[in-house]
Amino acid sequence: MYSVKEIFYSLQGEGAQSGRPAIFVRFAGCNFWTGREEDRSSAICKFCDTDFVGTNGTLGGKYPNADSIVEVIKKNWKSSQPAYIIFTGGEPLLQLDRFLIDAIHHEKWIVAVETNGSVSAPANIDWICVSPKTPVSSLMQTCGNELKLVYPQKELEPADFEHLNFKHFFIQPMDGLDLKKNTALAIDFCLSNPKWKLSLQNHKYLNIR
Ligand code: SF4
Repeated sequence: MYSVKEIFYSLQGEGAQSGRPAIFVRFAGCNFWTGREEDRSSAICKFCDTDFVGTNGTLGGKYPNADSIVEVIKKNWKSSQPAYIIFTGGEPLLQLDRFLIDAIHHEKWIVAVETNGSVSAPANIDWICVSPKTPVSSLMQTCGNELKLVYPQKELEPADFEHLNFKHFFIQPMDGLDLKKNTALAIDFCLSNPKWKLSLQNHKYLNIR
């Protein structure tokens, strides 16, 4: 059984795959915050702006098995190109398992995941994006395709993550009231540390999902 908040078709807005059409499968639930405002101040992750609570979004629901998710994706991916599926959340690795990965691969589709890195990813994921919210010492997933650090975060120094095994290192300005200031800080940081590239949340600028 998979608890899914929503499934939708859009463009990836962030990181190295920015601009790529994708089916997003947003799982419900996260291990870093309940998603309730009254718990925000005591959460591990305090700046989240994603609604991952419940199963009431577009095509959300309790899916009994992997095939039931595949069927919904089939109806929403109209191209003969291999579908690019981004599992996100919440924390997707609390639910994404080898049955679902195998079912996606059976269709010759591509599996991507966006995780906070607190859970080790199962084998055979095609694209792993880790966005840490805790110090490097507590990361369980320390390799992948891209590491995307929301910036700035208290007590998280980009330099602490540079030795990890990722192809791309991104700095992404933290959204919210200080977005303008954080964007300026992120630009300065990348200019001074060219190992890191700037990631913007283009979907927000474009007003798409
Ligand atoms: S880890 Fe991600 S989904 Fe979970 S609370 Fe933080 S930003 Fe939100």
